[in-house]
Amino acid sequence: MATVTLQNVFKSYGDRDAVQDLSLTVENKEFMVLVGPSGCGKSTTLRMVAGLEEISAGQLFIDGVNVTHAAPQQRDIAMVFQSYALYPHMTAYRNLAFGLMKTTKLSKAEIDHRIREAAEILHITELLERRPKELSGGERQRVAIGRALVRKPKVLLFDEPLSNLDAKLRSRMRGELKRLHRELGLTVIYVTHDQIEAMTLGTRVAMMSKGALQQIGAPMEIYMRP
Ligand code: ADP
Ligand code: ADP
Repeated sequence: MATVTLQNVFKSYGDRDAVQDLSLTVENKEFMVLVGPSGCGKSTTLRMVAGLEEISAGQLFIDGVNVTHAAPQQRDIAMVFQSYALYPHMTAYRNLAFGLMKTTKLSKAEIDHRIREAAEILHITELLERRPKELSGGERQRVAIGRALVRKPKVLLFDEPLSNLDAKLRSRMRGELKRLHRELGLTVIYVTHDQIEAMTLGTRVAMMSKGALQQIGAPMEIYMRP
């Protein structure tokens, strides 16, 4: 089980609210897509869920546990960044292993097992000895997703993960993400400004405007509404 509930959440920078009075529940195994114009607060919302940004007011629950002020490591969440954020001097294998080695007490064997498992799902087994500069954009993106998967998080967060890829690769990765979500039964919150991604991936779409939730519903309801 993994649900995420934001309850009357605010984020202020100085006297400006980047997010205002946002209430939203992401259900177990749901693929929730956050959309809206640049600057409407999508990233800030995701970062608050991840614990990378302090919540100014309101509350955040993961599986009913109040994690409003919990450290990121205590949230059972992993995030995939648009820029991949891989360590350039490490092989793909080490990139996947590093976070687990630093923040968990898992044995080497268990870490290795998780890496093999994630690599197989993502079709990167053959690439594990390569460093990021020896990988294509799409391969880097897979490694970045792998690094999130090896944590076996309850919730997976994506911040515009496909926007650095060309159109063909984007289309392929959309299919891959859909498959991952289905096969692994993940709860996902996914930020994008791409309507096709929202339509194909989202079980629901939450449309934000100026820091507030404007509409929420199935993709067809959101995009076919007059
Ligand atoms: P989106 O992801 O929808 O493009 P963001 O969540 O990045 O929007 O930003 C929402 C608003 O908060 C924007 O007006 C942005 O300028 C502002 N903002 C984001 N981060 C900061 C920050 N660290 N300091 C001040 N303002 C910020
Ligand atoms: P360091 O530079 O700290 O010695 P290594 O790159 O040798 O780190 O790897 C750290 C650990 O991960 C070692 O236990 C190593 O055996 C294991 N490891 C690294 N790459 C692989 C791989 N491709 N397959 C299996 N284990 C690996």
